[in-house]
Amino acid sequence: ASGNARMNREKSQQIFAKAKQLMPGGVNSPARAFGGVGGDPIVFDRAEGAYLYDVDGNKYIDYIGSWGPMILGHRHPRVVDAVKRAADRAFSFGAPSVGENILAQLIIDLVPSIEMVRLVNSGTEATMSAIRVARGFTGRAGIVKFAGNYHGHVDSLLVAAGSAAATLGVPNSPGVTPGTTQDTHIGRYNDVPHLEQLFAQHGSEIAAVIFEPVVGNMGCVIPSPEFLRSLREITRKHGALLICDEVMTGFRVSIGGAQQLYGIEPDLTTLGKIVGGGMPIGAYGGRADVMKHVLPAGKVFQAGTLSGNPIATAAGIATLEQLRETPPYEYLEKISAQLEAGLAREATQANIPHVITRVGSMLTLFFSSVRPQDWETASQSNTARYASYFWGLADRGIYMPCSQYEALFISAAHTPEDIEATIRSAAEVFKTLA
Ligand code: PMP
Repeated sequence: ASGNARMNREKSQQIFAKAKQLMPGGVNSPARAFGGVGGDPIVFDRAEGAYLYDVDGNKYIDYIGSWGPMILGHRHPRVVDAVKRAADRAFSFGAPSVGENILAQLIIDLVPSIEMVRLVNSGTEATMSAIRVARGFTGRAGIVKFAGNYHGHVDSLLVAAGSAAATLGVPNSPGVTPGTTQDTHIGRYNDVPHLEQLFAQHGSEIAAVIFEPVVGNMGCVIPSPEFLRSLREITRKHGALLICDEVMTGFRVSIGGAQQLYGIEPDLTTLGKIVGGGMPIGAYGGRADVMKHVLPAGKVFQAGTLSGNPIATAAGIATLEQLRETPPYEYLEKISAQLEAGLAREATQANIPHVITRVGSMLTLFFSSVRPQDWETASQSNTARYASYFWGLADRGIYMPCSQYEALFISAAHTPEDIEATIRSAAEVFKTLA
């Protein structure tokens, strides 16, 4: 499967052929390499609102939103304006600037459990740093992560990893040494007895449990209330910290993230994506007594030349202020439910076995008869069928995640008409899959 003659992508193919000579696999991040659907990645030129335009001039309705950040749609006027004004003042200081205070205050105001925060440059940096702080704070080495969850390319977390690591078949990467991962314990998502067993065996050595509060990185997988409750209870009982990785869900499933939606009380939270409004920012924060262990308040080292970058910070501030002043969450729920219902109806009509999972504007259509609860069940999906679905939609101007194991994202710029057009196209594609 690699598209058909419905759309001319000649320039895209030429540019990607050149890219393959210049960059490993032609990309700067594997999730965009189309490993899960085959064929050449589409090369993009510009974006506006809910739409992407490729280098051949084809237009697509965008359902990845840069894998999460673009909740307001592309080039929201307020964000564009903030970035332009920031660029007129400075590109980087490497010294304090007032925008850092404003963004930190917004994060602290909006995310219930965050009392103090540190800005970094990516989600990976956020999780890497949160793990280090948890270890420094507790004086313990062990961490628990769940199979199929992805927390960026942190060495100690690249074990049974989701996202592109799962799509491309390298959940455990070469180059990550046994020494680095010997303290990483793998849990099963939504499996409370297994978690209890891990703590019964290793409880006194575990510094932290890190988890995705709604998984996006094995497709969208929803946590059970019992699982969320036991995460908090077990970590508290054993003196381990709970790290809620909200890089994807933060400001997405509600303005206060999944912790607000579900009433989770983590010790530390990691953020990325929306917090930078499409510019490179990550953040980690939480209990002040824990965060005060970070240098120079405390002794846990963590740094960054470009951290708190004024242009990235301006994009983050504009995005969060817009979300706070004009919350899109009710609207997102409405159009996302519309997409879910339409896809379910058409897939059923075409006799395609499917399960749709959704939390707010995160959604996955699994080509499977099993409702995914964990990596074991999620990985039973028909990925060949997903590839045909992906290309069928791409050829109709709809850009879905290029893997069964990634959630799609809907933005406030999507209209009910965009959603209807998507359902109509999906109906056509489903008929070709049966
Ligand atoms: N944590 C989660 C839950 C993520 O989804 C991602 C990226 N998809 C990361 C961490 C890593 O973020 P980044 O790609 O910005 O390093």
